[in-house]
Amino acid sequence: MKYHVWTEGCQMNVADSQRVGSALEHLGYQQTDAAEEADVIVMNTCVVRQSAEDKAAGRLTSFQPLKKKNPNLVINLMGCMVGVRGAEKLKKRFPFVDVFSPPSDPGPLIAYLTQGEVRSLEDAETTRRFLAMDDELILPVAERGKLVMAHIPVVYGCSHACTYCIIPYRRGIERSRPVGDIVAEARSLAAQGVKEITLLGQIVDRYGTDIPDGPNLAGLLRILNDVDGLERIRFLTSHPNYFGEDLMEAVAALPKVMPHIEVPIQAGDDTVLENMRRGYTREDYYRLVEKIRAKIPGCSIATDIIVGFPGETEEQFNQTYQTLADLRLDVAHLARYSPREGTVSARRMPDDVSAEEKMRRFRLLEELQEQIVAEINARYLGETVEVLFEEKVKNRWKGRTPTNKLVFVESESDLRGKMLPVSVTWTGPWSMQANLLQAVTLPTL
Ligand code: SAH
Repeated sequence: MKYHVWTEGCQMNVADSQRVGSALEHLGYQQTDAAEEADVIVMNTCVVRQSAEDKAAGRLTSFQPLKKKNPNLVINLMGCMVGVRGAEKLKKRFPFVDVFSPPSDPGPLIAYLTQGEVRSLEDAETTRRFLAMDDELILPVAERGKLVMAHIPVVYGCSHACTYCIIPYRRGIERSRPVGDIVAEARSLAAQGVKEITLLGQIVDRYGTDIPDGPNLAGLLRILNDVDGLERIRFLTSHPNYFGEDLMEAVAALPKVMPHIEVPIQAGDDTVLENMRRGYTREDYYRLVEKIRAKIPGCSIATDIIVGFPGETEEQFNQTYQTLADLRLDVAHLARYSPREGTVSARRMPDDVSAEEKMRRFRLLEELQEQIVAEINARYLGETVEVLFEEKVKNRWKGRTPTNKLVFVESESDLRGKMLPVSVTWTGPWSMQANLLQAVTLPTL
């Protein structure tokens, strides 16, 4: 019996897919890259922008002939396309799908495979609990002992309701996971060879606010910093209103917590920010960046920006451009506004910036950012940095610095999972090259 998983979207989906794969292996299934030979196909979907939704729908339709050929094939649609509110519309649109699962929940699929049907939501919940009790059930076999970096969801859902964002509708309200579950998962991942974990949440710094007697994110980081075998800890995504000083101090003080913060600004104009209902001003964000840099020396900062939000004028866009030019951040994830059904902006604000104009603004920011990052990275030239190596890509080992910069090193040795000092010999906007500093006595591949 074989299973095939297709994953799209954020790191949360990647983490969810690993857990589904692992659960299926527990039932005796083996992973395959070929959808045609699978007995179970899991499609883990994203709908954050129209393009992602179209891709998922296209892919799903391409599986229909497989179902005709093999009526026993089980197709499971999972993730944000399904959401937490039931799948009646989707059932009509995709009648060949056997099981619909909300994000982060392998339960319905496992209940279907073990009991032949999903009788009630409790069934799914019971199955999920049962699975969560087994420590091994985190990484699929193919990744055990090989995967260097893994993600751990710590906050599910989101209750913030930015006007453009569909995530709260599809992932439900904000729920923090109990600290015990997270630590058990971190230990299990470390035992399976993982060296770096990234804690995930839509607003990860709100971790624990819904659990009165539990730790906050800073407290959780302190606990995880003591897990043997783990070398590095990261977390994302932060929100400017919740990334507080205690968290900055924890990042600065804890040796395993890396100096890299993902904190989206989304726009650099106050009116646009207000229309997005982000809850802060451009000035607030400037002060935040200043504080992060003062409290966490050498910290790299990544941001997200949406161009072409409804009503965004040329002048307002220029404010965003200027913001990016002023702040000189390490990464800017850029997106063109995409109206999502049911969100406040899609219901109340006309999508009035043309596709061409969105593209023009996108390109302008892209060019600016490329230049900034090239300059930031050039400062690494000749420096010694500690790199955690992940995998060999062609003839070079790929790894990351504490600040999350991509580094390539030529070596015949097996560097997977090793943390080694390197000397940077070349830098570009998207990656660097380096040499190992010390002669490494490691087995060759
Ligand atoms: N919770 C995180 C990440 C949300 S999704 C946050 O607070 O930002 C990742 C990114 O997708 C967002 O940061 C945003 O830049 C982008 N995004 C979300 N909704 C979008 C939409 N409707 N159109 C275009 N980009 C969008």
